[in-house]
Amino acid sequence: MNFLEERIQKDGIVKEGNVLKVDSFLNHQMDIRLFDQIGAEFKKRFAGKPINKILTIEASGIGIACMAAKHFDVPVVFAKKSKSINIEGEMYVAEVESFTHKCKNQVIVSKKFLNPEDHVLIIDDFLANGCALQGLISIVSEAGASLEGIGITIEKGFQAGGRMIRNLGYHLESLAIVDAMDPVTGRITFRSQEP
Ligand code: 5GP
Repeated sequence: MNFLEERIQKDGIVKEGNVLKVDSFLNHQMDIRLFDQIGAEFKKRFAGKPINKILTIEASGIGIACMAAKHFDVPVVFAKKSKSINIEGEMYVAEVESFTHKCKNQVIVSKKFLNPEDHVLIIDDFLANGCALQGLISIVSEAGASLEGIGITIEKGFQAGGRMIRNLGYHLESLAIVDAMDPVTGRITFRSQEP
């Protein structure tokens, strides 16, 4: 098991409805030392790529993206969730359905912060059905920027997102892939990965 899988095993809580709760270290209270290790691992997995910008989505992607950005020495742009229906002109807009909150949000990124010269790494905390990622990917393509890769902290491999994104040909790296989890026993099974 890698450092992240060990931490998920120790502190993650399996809830009903395919939800893995990791709020004691990842998306409510945040273990910055762990985030730094996550950032270093992303840097290793995307070594040699000409990444000049990291793109994430608010809120829980931001902390991880910022620590990763330190290792890449690049700025972070986060897509903002917007309530307004009509945003035009200076914004890239995508629609994202939230897995945890079961609602639809428009997410927006200012055109000032993403352009065709950019080489983007997308980072997020979770990959479930892939809606959040599809929204971010569509923003990158609307901007005419190059998508160099996608770094996910925890992928739930039993949901459809990971397969869909890989089938589309993107370079997706998930630091921990949960293949099964049981809310009754609390048992979490990880997909084995190359060391
Ligand atoms: P997707 O769009 O891939 O279906 O879901 C991704 C988003 O939903 C993530 O950004 C994350 O915030 C949230 N999410 C999905 N599954 C889980 C989960 O099991 N636990 C937690 N804490 N968040 C999740």
